[in-house]
Amino acid sequence: MRGDIAEAELWTRALELVRGLNIASDADTGPLFDHPPPGSDPEILKRLRQMYEAGGWVLVESAIADLPADLRWLFESGTVTIEHLATIHGALGVTSAADIGAAVREQKLRALPGLDADMEAAVGAALPALRARIPRIPLGRAVGVAERILEPLRAAPGVAWALPVGSLRRGQDEVGDIEIVAPADQPAAAIDALLSLPTSSRVLHRSERRLYVLTDRVQIGVRLAEPANAGADLLYLTGSRAHFEALQAHAAATGWTLKAGGLYASDGTLTPAATEAEIYAALGLPWIPPEIRNGDEEIAIAGRGALPVLVARGDIRGDLHMHSTWSDGRDAIAAMVDGCRALGYEYMAMTDHSPHSAAARNLTLDSVTKQAEEIDRLREQYPDITILHGCEVDILPDGRLDFADRVLEQFDIVLASLHERAGHGPEQLMTRYASAMRHPLVTLITHPTNRLLPSRRGYDLDYDRLFAMAVESGTVVEIDGAPSHLDLDGALARRAIAAGATVSINSDCHRAEMLGRQMDLGIVTARRGWVEPRHVLNTRSVAAVRSVIAAKRGSH
Ligand SMILES: [Zn+2]
Ligand SMILES: [Zn+2]
Repeated sequence: MRGDIAEAELWTRALELVRGLNIASDADTGPLFDHPPPGSDPEILKRLRQMYEAGGWVLVESAIADLPADLRWLFESGTVTIEHLATIHGALGVTSAADIGAAVREQKLRALPGLDADMEAAVGAALPALRARIPRIPLGRAVGVAERILEPLRAAPGVAWALPVGSLRRGQDEVGDIEIVAPADQPAAAIDALLSLPTSSRVLHRSERRLYVLTDRVQIGVRLAEPANAGADLLYLTGSRAHFEALQAHAAATGWTLKAGGLYASDGTLTPAATEAEIYAALGLPWIPPEIRNGDEEIAIAGRGALPVLVARGDIRGDLHMHSTWSDGRDAIAAMVDGCRALGYEYMAMTDHSPHSAAARNLTLDSVTKQAEEIDRLREQYPDITILHGCEVDILPDGRLDFADRVLEQFDIVLASLHERAGHGPEQLMTRYASAMRHPLVTLITHPTNRLLPSRRGYDLDYDRLFAMAVESGTVVEIDGAPSHLDLDGALARRAIAAGATVSINSDCHRAEMLGRQMDLGIVTARRGWVEPRHVLNTRSVAAVRSVIAAKRGSH
């Protein structure tokens, strides 16, 4: 079967035999089968004949290319031979860098035939470089790809839950691996259910409780944990590495040993944990949300019982930033309204682009009036949701806004955005932000760093000064959940709330079907910034939102 390590090893030995005999092309191979060298392994000759008949050595390369990515990179780094890799995998079942790292730390490699402590150290030293080579996947794409496996896995027989792990579960902007953990009573049935999906295009590896598939050119690993100890797998694989190490230190101080395999009592017996919460509880801690597992201060804060209750989807009462076909959105306002109603929102703001925006289509003076009429009709049609008529107005190079005040006054809410750098350096950008924030009609600054994932860095500004200006002027700053923005990011969001600023978590959605997904991306980003419901404008009632808008409009 492709992706099998023993198989890859056979192919590699076949290739070595061929190279040893100086066979350079398929044409030279025929005589090999007529007169095989004495002592040749018949299994290898069989492989060679298959290879010959299938038309090329390229099969060997592809057998290696089909291994789970971390194993392939370890082999290609030259640290181990394919025989070593086969031995390590055969004895320990490792399929990822996380497994290999745990095996190295627990000194399991040195005991294997053909390996020793030096080899173990070399593998340990190679691991960080392997991880550095991993292409990063933007969070929004990773969530979408993982969803295609998560949903059917959750429906598979005997699977109680399924969660992504690693940087995906922690909500990092860019994700290294897509791995999923699910407890399974009948792992074979769960794997069969996944393999019957049309999306699982290529199987890289299958063993009793593991499956690696390549889907949409991205590798997804699935681990079907023993249900009784699934919490240990989930905790270890979620990381971060720094958080897990800090937990290990905390465990050691309280008489436990925490390893990749779970929690061990002082006499060496495993205490199985079906959930993460059981492990945290044994260590005298509340469950810690994955988004803040950075290994800096969360364990100490949790130990004092002072963890914040982070904002969650259920706290969000409306979405204040989205686009329709009046600018560069794909869907009509009615479809966006329906989408927001389906999400249970009490209110929404329709905020299309102003004339000078670089978007493909923009509002014009004339269309603002027509859009207002359409929104009035929709308000009558959908009395169960409050529709605010807003706009996302560009902050022009001279700091003025892209609509005159008498136009802006007609909107229920005005978001301002610095989409266009106009060749300006940090000071000029800051001046433009300052004049927009001072404007009484501007309630909210959208995606403040204006980065574009994965390629464009955000503005290099003094963000603490920006947040101080937001507080002073009563302007809200956004956590934008569009996959290319995720802006403010978690670290900046944390500084914004520490400065006392109010944030708004919005979808900036351009298609109705993405309203929920992009709000979730915004929420996960906010949670990385330790944001609580009280920091967020759109966890409040529409009356409270209107009074924030009115307060700023009336204060000047
Ligand atoms: Zn924008
Ligand atoms: Zn927008």
